[in-house]
This record gives sequence, C-alpha cells and structure tokens, in this order.
Amino acid sequence: MRCFYSPDYFLPLPEGHPFPMRKFPEAHAHLAGALPVEIVAPCDDAVIARVHAPDYLARLRAGTLTSRETTQLGLPPGETLYRRSALEVEGTRRAALAALTHGVAANLAGGTHHAFPDHGEGFCVLNDVAITIRDLHTTRPALRVLVCDTDAHQGNGTHAIFAGDDRIFTYSIHVGANYPSRKVPGSLDVPLDRFVDDPRYLAALTASLPPAVTGFRPDLALWITGADPHRNDRFGQMQLSARGMATRDRFVATLFRDRGIPLVVLYGGGYNREPTHTARLHAATVRLTASLFE
Ligand SMILES: [Zn+2]
Repeated sequence: MRCFYSPDYFLPLPEGHPFPMRKFPEAHAHLAGALPVEIVAPCDDAVIARVHAPDYLARLRAGTLTSRETTQLGLPPGETLYRRSALEVEGTRRAALAALTHGVAANLAGGTHHAFPDHGEGFCVLNDVAITIRDLHTTRPALRVLVCDTDAHQGNGTHAIFAGDDRIFTYSIHVGANYPSRKVPGSLDVPLDRFVDDPRYLAALTASLPPAVTGFRPDLALWITGADPHRNDRFGQMQLSARGMATRDRFVATLFRDRGIPLVVLYGGGYNREPTHTARLHAATVRLTASLFE
C-alpha cells in the first residue's frame, strides 16, 4: 500500500498546545521501512480554491483571521500553517489517485473534516477530502465517492460542502452530544451516546455501514479513520479499546476490499492522554489496512 507524507506535516506549536503535531513524525517512524512512502509537495493554490473562499485563504495566509476565527480554528494562522495544510491536502489528493490505480493508498495525515469553505474549525484548516473530490470531478465528473467518517466527531464541514451533491455520500458515526455542537446533516449520520463501549459501537457500525455502501455503489471511498474513539482520548468521548478499534478497522477495510471499491485511508483526529499512543493507533490502522489488501 502506497503512503503519502511530508516531514513538514509537523509544525512546531507553542508549549502546551493541545494539538499533537508529534503524531505525524512518530506514526511515520512506525511505518517507514514497512510500507512505501512518497514525499509530497504542496497542493496547487488553484486546486485548493475550488473549495475555499478567496477571502478566507487570503486572510489565513496573511495571518489576519479575527481572534474569534483563530480560536475557532485552534491553530496559529499564517503562511507556515497554510503551506503545511496544502501539503496535507496534496497527500490526500495523491493517495486518492493512487487508490484509483492500485486499489488502496494512505495519506499519513488528512481527514480535516471540520474545515468549511469560508472558515476552519477544530484544528482543521483546509478540507482535504472536499478538495480531493472536487479535483477528481474535474476529470471524472460522474465519479461516485463515499466519505466514511469513523472519527469520534461529526464531519460537519464535509457535510456542508457536499449537501445536495448526489455524487457524494457522507457517512459519519460519532458521539451525538460532543463537538461540533451544531451538526450539519450528512447522507447518513449515526449519532451514538457518550462513552460508548466496543460492543455497542461495533453493533452500530456493522448495522449501518454495509447497507449504505450497497445502496450508494461508490467508485471510491475516502475513510477518515480517527484515533479519537480510543478510551484514553482527551476529546473523543468514546470508550473503545485498542482491540475494539482494530476490529473496527478490519471491518471497514474488508468491506471495501471485498466489494472492489478503491479505498483511501486518512488519519482524522487523535488526542490520546498518553503522548505516544496517538501515533501508535494511527500506524496500527494503516498497517492493518495494508495487510488486508496484500
Ligand atoms: Zn475527531
């Protein structure tokens, strides 16, 4: 399975910042050597502008977002953050192209599902999934894409961008009473109670995802995996064990594999209280998926 990455996915943040930037180089270190990794360059500005508003992009790059917007985003705006986000977008775009050719690929980042066209939220600056789909549609306008979002939080930005576009199916299984407080309806939302355990989570997933895939018949699936359903996560508000998450990963990857649907694996969120555990969870998802497609 081809993986896409840049050492500049890591951005130094102020001491005590809640976003775990170290997970990118740490997960890469777990995977490098076992899987082929291609280094990406930043996505073209014109491709990013197919989704995001010119005013937002200009003020993001100039570092002139309002203090309210900066708080909502959770990361320091400026050209450095823009470039880092453009790299992450390109990793997802390249992974999607590789999956369409080879059946599966991963970006060792991505899944920034809280980014809207005109603003960022919850550490999501640019919506890599939306930009990738819009770019694919320039050359493959009929491509049917399913966004499978198993991050603990709802994919509100992605849902907003693709509302009313019947070529896109957005599936999101998440905690109903957690961030984002205002949900944007997707094609299929599966809201769960807070602090859901392995059996209840897996029962909801296995009951809801297969009929969605069968009914929609996608040509491509973008999977925002999420390490934040883990029971030791700071923000996920789920109680999954590492074993339960591996069962989740095996179920989702096998579902798409067995139906011959090209699959793109993306990280989504992960904020484990044990600092190195987030990277281990992301790497485990990538490694398991790769083994299932061998
Ligand atoms: Zn999340």
